[in-house]
Amino acid sequence: MTEIVSVRKAEDYEKGLSKAIDKVLSDLGGLKRFVKSGDKVALKPNLLVFSSPSKAIVTHPIFTFEVFKKIIEIGGEPFVIDSPGSGIPFTKNSLKSLYRLTGYWEIFKDYTDYLNTDTSKQTVEIENGLILKRVDILKPLLDADFIINLPKMKTHTLTFLSGAVKNMYGAVPGMEKTKYHSRFRNVHDFSKVLIDVWNVTKPGLTLMDGIVSLEGDGPAMRGIPRKTQVILGSKDPLSMDLAICKLIGLAYNDIPYLKVAIENNLSDGTYNIVGETSAINDFILPRTYHGKISIDPVSLYNYFVFPIFSKFLVEKPKVMKQKCIRCGVCVRSCPEKAITIDKVSAIIDYNKCIKCYCCHEQCPEGAIDLKRINL
Ligand code: SF4
Ligand code: SF4
Repeated sequence: MTEIVSVRKAEDYEKGLSKAIDKVLSDLGGLKRFVKSGDKVALKPNLLVFSSPSKAIVTHPIFTFEVFKKIIEIGGEPFVIDSPGSGIPFTKNSLKSLYRLTGYWEIFKDYTDYLNTDTSKQTVEIENGLILKRVDILKPLLDADFIINLPKMKTHTLTFLSGAVKNMYGAVPGMEKTKYHSRFRNVHDFSKVLIDVWNVTKPGLTLMDGIVSLEGDGPAMRGIPRKTQVILGSKDPLSMDLAICKLIGLAYNDIPYLKVAIENNLSDGTYNIVGETSAINDFILPRTYHGKISIDPVSLYNYFVFPIFSKFLVEKPKVMKQKCIRCGVCVRSCPEKAITIDKVSAIIDYNKCIKCYCCHEQCPEGAIDLKRINL
């Protein structure tokens, strides 16, 4: 069935935000269609790293708070839950720091008890998984009556898009996320992990914060905030990600997890956009994305020659020594233990590196760049 993806304009996080969310919800049949009075509702934003909302890495706390208030208005019992990236220890204290540094503590000041700090997990057996037989998931998320997925619209150097489906990977507790990079080293297999985790958690509604998005080398400090002024909503995260591809100029077949979903008949590639359908022009895609073709020689090189030699030319993480503060976050986030710290900076052992880009994603200083042989 072709699912609706509502796209509505929202100028910023102050003016008209509540009304814009209402419009999206109305396009989808209203919030009461999804949430009943008394339901325990998990709100799952993207809280990837310790980062101020102005950097557009995390779902803006005001966006999450607006949805939170709407759940309370109809008698639901909302709470906010996420597990950050692998560079941050998954403990009660770290979660409190995460809420403080991402602005959630301040915005939720009268409701801080509703910011989850329970780190318990539950192993879920998966009967017909694409690649996983079981997976550990945050227990409070599984205990909720209903999950609302609240992703941020971002690019991603590994999967090119960090959209609605990928946001649910945060349901995997803390550093367990890295082990899947190690077990499933190619992005096609890792994409099956993303789909399996999404299928286990099955958010019933997705509302995306695309008011200020992240373009370029997302999903963290190396990305660039971009005012895109949209909110998206859909029952189906796959449909939403397909619609985003169209809006920002990505070919959906180049997004590994969308390709995997279509190959496995989880989507037929169709969706029905309502509301604001104009393209977001000149959205900067990650430098690792080589799928676009045009007639200029660099693109031709990227499209035809690069794939043949990609084994040798694929972008590698590179530490910018002058920016490195030797904090060790990258060491913790590396699934292959390829990073050590010397007297000056972090050092990467390229013999061990599998180019998962977790270090690039987790470095709080944006001190890890991606480099390959350039024309
Ligand atoms: S590169 Fe340096 S600043 Fe970045 S995470 Fe590693 S140690 Fe910290
Ligand atoms: S050094 Fe390589 S393997 Fe380790 S986190 Fe970075 S990209 Fe991944």
